[in-house]
Amino acid sequence: MTSYEGSMLEQLAMPTRAEVEKSLLMTLFKNNGAIREFASGVKIVDEIADGFSLNQEQRNAVLERIYKKENRIVKTPLWHRLLYRAADNLAKEKLVTRPTITVQLTNKKEWMLTEKGFDAALQLLGLTSEQKAVLPVKSFEVQREIKRLTETERPENYDPLDLQKKKKTHVKASNIRSRGFRHAVIESYDYRCCVCGLKIQTPDFMIWEVEAAHIVPHGSNGRDDVWNGIALCKFHHWAFDTGWFSLSNDCKMVVSSRLQELPMDFGRVENYDFFRNTLYQDKLILLPKNPVLYPHPGSLKWHRQHIFHT
Ligand SMILES: [Zn+2]
Repeated sequence: MTSYEGSMLEQLAMPTRAEVEKSLLMTLFKNNGAIREFASGVKIVDEIADGFSLNQEQRNAVLERIYKKENRIVKTPLWHRLLYRAADNLAKEKLVTRPTITVQLTNKKEWMLTEKGFDAALQLLGLTSEQKAVLPVKSFEVQREIKRLTETERPENYDPLDLQKKKKTHVKASNIRSRGFRHAVIESYDYRCCVCGLKIQTPDFMIWEVEAAHIVPHGSNGRDDVWNGIALCKFHHWAFDTGWFSLSNDCKMVVSSRLQELPMDFGRVENYDFFRNTLYQDKLILLPKNPVLYPHPGSLKWHRQHIFHT
């Protein structure tokens, strides 16, 4: 750092780089793991400045560097430069990916949290890493897994069972895979239960209620592929896993005949017959926009044979 820049930072009582690094990690966390690169007019640049309550002088200070060879003066906003230096350092520590790397994955020039950066942000917030399973933050590694899951060619014949699954002991890899599965499934279904359409978040708008259900369950070595998943609310997830309903190969509901024997005061929410009004024979579920991501008949057949109660 030039002494000129250093003394300017000091004179204006700008935050330290370490403070800006912390703030960047929190900001990335709040923005689901990615923020735009720092160009002028980018909202995030002002938002982070707001976090430090920077005054106009601090925000507008310009660093002038003279390039003697080319005989020109380059003016850089001091605040941008400080942000960039902090982000650059986070990238060196592998806590974020640089916009030049992220753009290759997402087509967006953004700084993005890595798994390591996600952990660091959780620690700053006093949250445990178990929270990773439900939080909306997507790390670079999870983002890459989602891309793989949603862009792999759909096979004609599909075996939803992964018999090698239990032997795989790499915890970190399986953790990224299962989070990639969850994000890919709930995004494909627009965060709705594919049976009743329920779409709701926690009051802080952070966590979606909907769950990514395995058609062939995890415990039966079901694969973490979008073709082996559907998005369900907690109630319909339970009803699906216990065999109250299944799906035909063309994604229409198949409902257990035991429903007929069920007393009329069962499955009701106050006066509304929730159970019978959401589960009925031949009703088409709400499907993803992209047919490539529809549940695979290979998985559905297995569910009808092994889980469904006729
Ligand atoms: Zn539902």
